[in-house]
This record gives sequence, C-alpha cells and structure tokens, in this order.
Amino acid sequence: MKSIIFIAPPAAGKGTQSSMVAEKYNIPHISTGDLLRKAAKEKNERGEYIYNQMQTGGLVRDDVTTEILIERLKKDDCNNGYILDGFPRNVEQAKIYDAILANLKKDTGIVILLDLDYENAMKRSVGRLICSNCGKVYNSMVEKMKPHVEGLCDSCHAVLSQRADDTYETFNRRYETYLESTVPLIDFYHEKGNLYIVDSNKDKDAVFKDIIKILEN
Ligand code: AMP
Repeated sequence: MKSIIFIAPPAAGKGTQSSMVAEKYNIPHISTGDLLRKAAKEKNERGEYIYNQMQTGGLVRDDVTTEILIERLKKDDCNNGYILDGFPRNVEQAKIYDAILANLKKDTGIVILLDLDYENAMKRSVGRLICSNCGKVYNSMVEKMKPHVEGLCDSCHAVLSQRADDTYETFNRRYETYLESTVPLIDFYHEKGNLYIVDSNKDKDAVFKDIIKILEN
C-alpha cells in the first residue's frame, strides 16, 4: 500500500476517513493533530507552547511539528505505508516533507483532497460532540448525527463534550488558515500529478467508497 496524505478544510472528515482507511488496509493512521495534542500535555516549555497555539487555532511551528512527525515515521509500522492526516498543511511543510521522505527513502504516495463547502465545514465543526468514554463522534447541528438523548452517547451513555478548539471563532481562524496556507498545496500536488479530489459534502460511507475507488484503481 502506498502512503496516503489527506488534505482538507477543518471538519471535512479527515480523521474519520483516515481511521476507516487505516482499518481496511491495516496501516497506521498518523494525525499530527493527535501527536501534537499528546505533546501539548507534557509539562515543559514545548508542551506549553503547543497547547497555546492549538487553543487559538494557529499552526504549531514547523520545527516543532516536524521533530514530532519524524520520530513517528521512523517506527517500523510505517514500513508498509501509512496515512498522514494534518500534514503537510502548507507548501513549506510539503517541501520539508519531501526532504524527510528522501532521507527515509520513502515516496510521497497519493494525495487526497476532501473537498467541503464553508457552510458544511462550519456546522460540522462548531456542532461536533465527542463521547468522553468511547470517542464516538456526534453533531448537534447536523440532523443525521444528533445523539438520541441530548448530551449523551447512544452507545455507552457517557457524557458528550466539545473539543476545546471547536468554537465558532476558532473554526473561522482555522478556516482562514486553511484558505491561506493549505489551498496553495492543492496546486503543489496537482503539478506533481498525484492529487485526487473527493467530494466530502456527501455522507461518510459515500466518501469512503470514493476513496477506496481511487486507492484500488
Ligand atoms: P487537527 O486535529 O488536524 O485539526 O489539528 C489541530 C491543531 O493542531 C491545528 O489547529 C494546529 O494548531 C495543530 N496542527 C496539526 N497539524 C499541524 C501541522 N501540520 N502544522 C502545524 N500545526 C498543526
């Protein structure tokens, strides 16, 4: 299996689709957001810096993010491909990533853009609720994703909570960051010839089918 990079606006289903693909092909799902959230808990200067950046919706510095990513890519489970979710987020990071790959003797693989309208991205992000126990994701602003009982998980009945960075203000900041920094990446990979576009306004199973079609063709 080739490595896969997902690029997408906030709340386009990057995390969900990455997990589904990872499970189907038994390859690791590497999310820089998750790696950074873990590092943000460390009680040191780096942890404090990452925590503050994430709270405000800004990007974490490239040197910090790449240090954490390289550590992860060196692990043996990355030898048969992996899914990269959340990196690269701008052209600068794409160039750094090319250099990292050259060093690790790996190739770029496939790049998939999950394309989503602003309005849908906003609702999915601001309404997103996560089960504090099993991690299942709901949405208070998307009819089909509301829990049966407000505020409680359908599966394990634990309390649902909002991610600290899923507020309206933070969403808009992240969306602006996406427009400014990530959109130029689309041209970067288009020119390289390994970009595929999937309409992510559809429901998650339809999006998954479209992704599988790309991977298996
Ligand atoms: P995500 O879980 O991908 O939505 O990322 C959450 C937050 O982690 C972002 O808003 C950034 O603050 C930080 N982050 C994730 N990936 C990167 C990256 N490639 N470069 C810099 N910051 C990142």
